[in-house]
Amino acid sequence: MSRVGLRIGRIGFLAALVCVLGFPASAQGAVRSSSFVEHATARYRATTSCYDRPDWAALVRSGYPNLRGHETEVYGLWRYEIRQVALPARGCTALERWRAAPAASVSLWIFVLGHELTHAEQSDLYNAPWSRPFDEVEADCGGFAKFARLKFDLGITRRLPPPPRYFGRCPLKQAKPRR
Ligand SMILES: [Zn+2]
Repeated sequence: MSRVGLRIGRIGFLAALVCVLGFPASAQGAVRSSSFVEHATARYRATTSCYDRPDWAALVRSGYPNLRGHETEVYGLWRYEIRQVALPARGCTALERWRAAPAASVSLWIFVLGHELTHAEQSDLYNAPWSRPFDEVEADCGGFAKFARLKFDLGITRRLPPPPRYFGRCPLKQAKPRR
């Protein structure tokens, strides 16, 4: 349609790629836990697992077969059946090595963590997805809202801004632009 429509579609696609996964996936090989990331997820009674490249691809495909070939664009999954925040290993590594990793990368993965942990709250509050579907917009808002607290819980003392607002679909209250 318009350039604006294209832009929104693209953002929607990007943001839709942090999501939820219900059923248990097949046996995993190189999956490790991250006690570092669990400093932030423990409050939500959630564990954290970090999947290396092939295992991540297999996990994504098991839930979203249509994303074959786009597995690396999926940043995180909330595995509600086992209360696990699933991250690709590169995400865990960026968080664990926050001192040296690029700032934008560390910010991105904190946001993803906040998104997935909002899904954890949705599981608790409205028994999602059995009673109510997961709300992706609310999860994006949670990614921004939880940013400072998660950064603190992780012990990341570096100055980091949250990712740019367009990364999520959380609506921003704003004054009407003057023309
Ligand atoms: Zn999501």
